[in-house]
Amino acid sequence: MPPQPLQNLIEELCRFPGVGPKTAQRMAFFILSRPRQEAVSLARALIEAKDKLKFCTCCGSLTEIDPCAYCTDARRDHQTICVVQEPRDVFAMDRTGQYRGLYQVLHGALSPLDGIGPEELRIPDLVKRISEQQVKELIIATNPNVEGEATAAYIARLCKPLGVKVTRIAFGLPVGGDLEYADDLTLSRALEGRQEM
Ligand code: ZN
Repeated sequence: MPPQPLQNLIEELCRFPGVGPKTAQRMAFFILSRPRQEAVSLARALIEAKDKLKFCTCCGSLTEIDPCAYCTDARRDHQTICVVQEPRDVFAMDRTGQYRGLYQVLHGALSPLDGIGPEELRIPDLVKRISEQQVKELIIATNPNVEGEATAAYIARLCKPLGVKVTRIAFGLPVGGDLEYADDLTLSRALEGRQEM
C-alpha cells in the first residue's frame, strides 16, 4: 500500500473528469517530483478560483465581478442572446471572435428522468430578460444531443410567442459532440449558418 498522504492525493485527483486511478497516480508522482513552491501555487490557485469566482446573477456565466463583463459591456449587442448549457461554453463561443451579443447560461439541459426541469435551468430568468431587455434574437447553442435538442425545442416553443426570433446554430459537429470540443472555425461556421426554429 502507498503511504497515506499519497493515497489521499490520488483519491482527490481521481475526482477530476476523465481522470482514472492510473492518470491520478501519474499526476500525484509528478506533483511530488516538483519543488514545494509549485504545489503551494497549485493549491492557492484552486482556493482562489473557488473563493473569487461566482456566477453572474444576470446571465449565469462565470465571473469575478457581478454582473459580469459581458452583461455590462455597452459595445456588445444587448438585443441578441446566445443560450448555452455550461459556463465553459461562453468561453468557447467568445473565443471565435464572431459573436458580439450577450449570453444566457442554463447550467444544464432538460432531463426529466434526472428531475431537471425548466425551473432548474434558469429558463424563467431567460424569459424575464427577453421582456425586460427588448431582445430581438435568441441563438440557441445547446449541445447536439437528445437533452440539448429537447431543451432547444422547449425554449423555442416558450419564447417565440414573446415576439423574439429564435435560431439554432448549425452544427458541423458529430451528433453528441459537445460545444466545448468544437474548434473555433467549426463554431464560427455553426454560428453563421444558424437557422430559424
Ligand atoms: Zn452576465
